[in-house]
This record gives sequence, C-alpha cells and structure tokens, in this order.
Amino acid sequence: MHSLLFKSLPFLHPKPRCFPISHLTTTAMSVNTKTRLRGVVFDMDGTLTVPVIDFAAMYKAVLGETEYRRIRQENPSGIDILHHIESWSPDKQRNAYEVILDFERQGLERLKIMPGAGELCGFLDSKKIRRGLITRNVKEAVDLYHQRFGIMFSPALSREFRPYKPDPAPLLHICSTWDVQPSEVMMVGDSLKDDVACGKRAGAITCLLDEKGRYGSSDFTKLDLEPDFKVSSLAEVHSLLETYFDLMP
Ligand SMILES: [Mg+2]
Repeated sequence: MHSLLFKSLPFLHPKPRCFPISHLTTTAMSVNTKTRLRGVVFDMDGTLTVPVIDFAAMYKAVLGETEYRRIRQENPSGIDILHHIESWSPDKQRNAYEVILDFERQGLERLKIMPGAGELCGFLDSKKIRRGLITRNVKEAVDLYHQRFGIMFSPALSREFRPYKPDPAPLLHICSTWDVQPSEVMMVGDSLKDDVACGKRAGAITCLLDEKGRYGSSDFTKLDLEPDFKVSSLAEVHSLLETYFDLMP
C-alpha cells in the first residue's frame, strides 16, 4: 500500500521492542491515529501451547522416508500434510489420519500452555476484546485446551471446519460471527505459511510468533508473505497491542 512509509520504518523505530514490519503500523503512527482492533484470533499448537509435536517425525511416518525427502525438497517452506493426503485413496487416507492422530494424541498428553497466554487473554478480557481460535488440530484437542487451562475461545474452529488454514475461510467465518471487519482483527500464529497466509488472505492484521528466530525477511520475500508484526513471545503481543492499537470492542 505505502511502500515509502514502509521503507522509513527503521528510522521511526531504531530499536523496536516488538517488531512492526509493515506499512500498517507506520501508516497509523504517521498520522498519529491508532488502528482499531476488536478481536484477536490465535493459532493453537506452538502459539497457545508450547510446541510438543515432532512434525518431521509425523510426516516421515505418514509419507515414508523417501517420499518425505522428495516432498520436503519441493516445499522448502514446509509440508502441508493434510492437503497432501487429501488426494490419496480412502484406505491410504484413513491410515494416514490414524498416524497423524496418534502423534497428536501423544502431543495432548504433554500439552503445556504457552508462557504469557493466560496474561494476554486476561488483558484482552479486561478490554472486552473478542478471542477466537483456528487450528488444523482436531476438536478434541481444543476441548482439552479449554478444559485444562480454563481459557475459552469463541469461535474455536478445528480441522473439522473446512477448508482449513491457510484458506481464509475460517477467519472470515469468525469475523462474520463477530460481525466485525477482518481489518479490525489480528491473526496471531507461529506458522508463516498457515497463520500469516490465512490472515493476509482474509484481510486481517497478522502477527507472526517466532520464538526461536526461525524466520527472516528472505523467507517473507520468498513466500510473498510479510506479517505486519513479528514477535518472539506472547508478552510482546501484549505490548504491541497496547502501543499500536485502539482496543475497542
Ligand atoms: Mg502453530
């Protein structure tokens, strides 16, 4: 939209605590008005929970070592296993889903809440900002999260809702349920190709949670997916919400 403003960002933020990346923040700042935010939608695994699923091992178990390597090479940004098995025969597909479920169940046993998740959700509640959830995991996992940690998200869409991320459909569905514009909603997640892609396609504000510094600007360019913000913890989401947005339900 305003590439000039984007380029001026480093001068506006010599030492950003959070990492505003796109024009959105600079545009808002340059006219001294904040963007209205009415809702936040979270990814679950690796965002609201500490990552416990060994995805590489899961993909190898589903695809077999050789096929895994081949597909990995063709998709350097990551494998979309659900999409990949959709074209398989029903029998093969059923087996694949069983393997995936098994990995996910093992993950559930070790489920841990992401540090800062409770505080961030408490803060959103204090501002009456809506909280939604979109995951490619199953409903059972979402139910367990709600139950175990006592933090509810509504709507909370699991992979039973089709099409799933990176399709924008689940996010658009949440926006229409809330009766808010996608541009008034932030999508927060740890996957560039699923969460940021879903958010951008829906027209929402996007925030990539990159705890380990896995992503750099070359990844954004390569996939043509640049999040509006990049943070390394949920605590940073809290501060960027306070700094750059008008939190008005
Ligand atoms: Mg995730």
